[in-house]
Amino acid sequence: MTAVIIDGKAVAEQVRQDWKVRADALKAKGILPGLAVIIVGDNPASRVYVRNKVKACHDLGLHSELIELPDDTTEEMLLSRITHLNENPDIHGILVQLPLPEQIDVDKVLETISPEKDVDGFHLYNLGALVVGNTVFPPCTPFGVMAMLKHINAEISGKNAVVVGRSNIVGKPMALMLLQESATVSICTSRTQDLAFYTKIADILVVATGKAQMISGDMVKPGAIVIDVGINRTDDGKLVGDVDFDSVKEVAGYITPVPGGVGPMTITMLVANTIMAAEAMHGNDD
Ligand code: NDP
Repeated sequence: MTAVIIDGKAVAEQVRQDWKVRADALKAKGILPGLAVIIVGDNPASRVYVRNKVKACHDLGLHSELIELPDDTTEEMLLSRITHLNENPDIHGILVQLPLPEQIDVDKVLETISPEKDVDGFHLYNLGALVVGNTVFPPCTPFGVMAMLKHINAEISGKNAVVVGRSNIVGKPMALMLLQESATVSICTSRTQDLAFYTKIADILVVATGKAQMISGDMVKPGAIVIDVGINRTDDGKLVGDVDFDSVKEVAGYITPVPGGVGPMTITMLVANTIMAAEAMHGNDD
């Protein structure tokens, strides 16, 4: 079997067009959804990510602001910027790019963003809402994975879903979202004994470990849907996922490539959350 490759760029484009309709409905009422992205310091990877996020908003005709702060920004200065943005009616979504310099307490920063503007979905209020199945802003990467699964009409209810990785931004919310759709969910970590036992029972396998090409074809159930969240750079500068694409595509039913898989979806869902935030603030029904 050779897997169907899920083209993240194409799916993202389609999803964006759906959201554009909702953004246009807001604009017709004089409401321009706005996103503020804050970056502290000059981490080159973070700079690329924030540029892409701001561009995605521009491309859809949304308002976006990039706030670049120096590496020696104090926690107090950053919290004060966030508080101002919380009060700014032109801004519906606020995102602080992680990681932050060590003098800044990440948890404090995430809790200062108003839950109504928390388009990354990392505020404890929004994470709690996700736990009780009453999601407000789903964290963008797992939200993007769910949109991809929807795009291929994946059956989720009653299926075995295995998430490898338990980070707060990918693995845990991913597992909760799959659970919400009534999958039987297992979460694997670096401590899991016999990882292949779990991956081989997965009808839906989502891998988010940051360990290059750690999932090989012999660890995958024939016909499974394999979603590779990982982004790793090899010594020769190539981008690869956490899944060994060449061997897994011979076994899986569907597979996402890296690059061009989950990455474009993550950014699209950030735009979606910004539009949702604007709708929630102003209402979208006449
Ligand atoms: P973290 O480093 O925060 O978490 C990695 C998780 O993987 C941990 O829970 C860790 O377990 C687990 N893990 C590590 N090694 C193994 C192993 N051998 N077997 C099983 N589990 C293991 O990473 P993130 O969740 O932030 O990111 C994961 C990957 O996804 C990275 O490559 C990142 O760049 C990428 N990413 C991609 C995005 C996109 O848009 N495509 C967005 C966000 C992230 P333990 O907890 O026990 O240490």
